[in-house]
Amino acid sequence: MAHRSAAIVTVGSELTLGLRIDTNTATVARTLATYGFTVTEAVSVADNLEVLVAALRRLTYAYELVIVTGGLGPTHDDITREAAAAALDLPLTRDSRLVEVLRPAVCRHRDDGAREQVLRQADVLRGAEILDPETGTAPGQLVATACGELLLLPGPPSEMLPMLMRGLQRKSPVCAAPRELGIAQMPESEAQVLIEGAITDMRGIGFTILSKPGDVRALLADSGAGGERLSEAADAAAEALGVHCYSSHGESLAEVVVRSAAQSGRTIALAESCTGGMVCAALTEVPGSSSAFIGGVVAYSNDAKTALLGVSEEVVSQHGAVSAQVAEGMAAGALAAFDTDLAVSVTGIAGPDGGSSDKPVGTVWFGLAVRSPSDGSVRVRSLLRRLPGTRTGVRDRATATALEVLRREILGLPAL
Ligand code: ATP
Ligand code: MG
Repeated sequence: MAHRSAAIVTVGSELTLGLRIDTNTATVARTLATYGFTVTEAVSVADNLEVLVAALRRLTYAYELVIVTGGLGPTHDDITREAAAAALDLPLTRDSRLVEVLRPAVCRHRDDGAREQVLRQADVLRGAEILDPETGTAPGQLVATACGELLLLPGPPSEMLPMLMRGLQRKSPVCAAPRELGIAQMPESEAQVLIEGAITDMRGIGFTILSKPGDVRALLADSGAGGERLSEAADAAAEALGVHCYSSHGESLAEVVVRSAAQSGRTIALAESCTGGMVCAALTEVPGSSSAFIGGVVAYSNDAKTALLGVSEEVVSQHGAVSAQVAEGMAAGALAAFDTDLAVSVTGIAGPDGGSSDKPVGTVWFGLAVRSPSDGSVRVRSLLRRLPGTRTGVRDRATATALEVLRREILGLPAL
């Protein structure tokens, strides 16, 4: 399979100044790979007309496909249209149909100058195909270059991706879409060794590990082996990872928890201390989470643990807030308060201060309370983890661990 080469340009001073992380490059590159394009150059350019013109001139002569994201909006710093026009030596003309599409946005502004700014988004490169906006106001443009095509897309990721897919519509995917395996509670190096062992004699399968605190993801890509072999490789890798592999089609851990709880008709509550609501946030990020998630309490102080979750003052003073007893009391309290089938609690020392020799920073207790479906009795247990990392790392790992405690319980897998 002949790979064609492409370049990506992300536009915005917020990117070059480090004020925003560029996620568009990763999204675009991964999508292009499934269309047989290898991205060999990716650059971020500030909102600087001269620099952007130079970059576009050079890249459109070097690559069959150049994708630009950002700088298509209405504000003075949105210069991508003008830069592309200068780089390709094409005039910009105002498209009368787009002026109509933009009319509602124009009407929202009183000031003539602001109205004119909005209308700049109707300026189109001669000969370009227009990609109408679905969510925002900025249209995309696809135009021929000396070597192939230039595709201009808006910057906001949620507007960019659907428009990218439409821009690529006429090219048919040549590779199977990559498979993404989610891996819980396993170091990335261990996951790597297991996956390598599982796919060792499979040629034409690319494999990378992406890891962040508490979550490891393995990306398996078709580099010529074909979709069927990619499926085989993903299945073999998932099997090698065993209980640690929580998804093999890119689902997040929270998505798996919500889906499996909803499927088994079980409800979830949370009691959080050091994670301050992060577990609840992860669950409620999942569309449809209301089918399983009932609610949570952030009980940060000892008093809050007592008042809101019914953990007795004596238990707190005798064992400390970071203890098996308090974790179990919090979970039982949340289960009772929200009348759910399951409740998980998190109480720990995220640092950087507050550690001691027997409870160093990173000490986190998790509680799990489970209501028996047959007789309604409540079973409670707890789990201790010493989590590495900074305050952020400890909180992220604790969030992932709480979700994994839930997943294992819901799916009837061996407990952590
Ligand atoms: P608009 O101005 O209409 O929102 P635009 O096409 O002009 O659209 P930009 O102004 O460049 O887009 O970016 C708008 C926002 O989109 C940025 O503030 C940023 O939050 C996000 N964004 C832009 N580029 C990227 C990128 N490469 N990766 C992630 N987010 C981005
Ligand atoms: Mg903008």
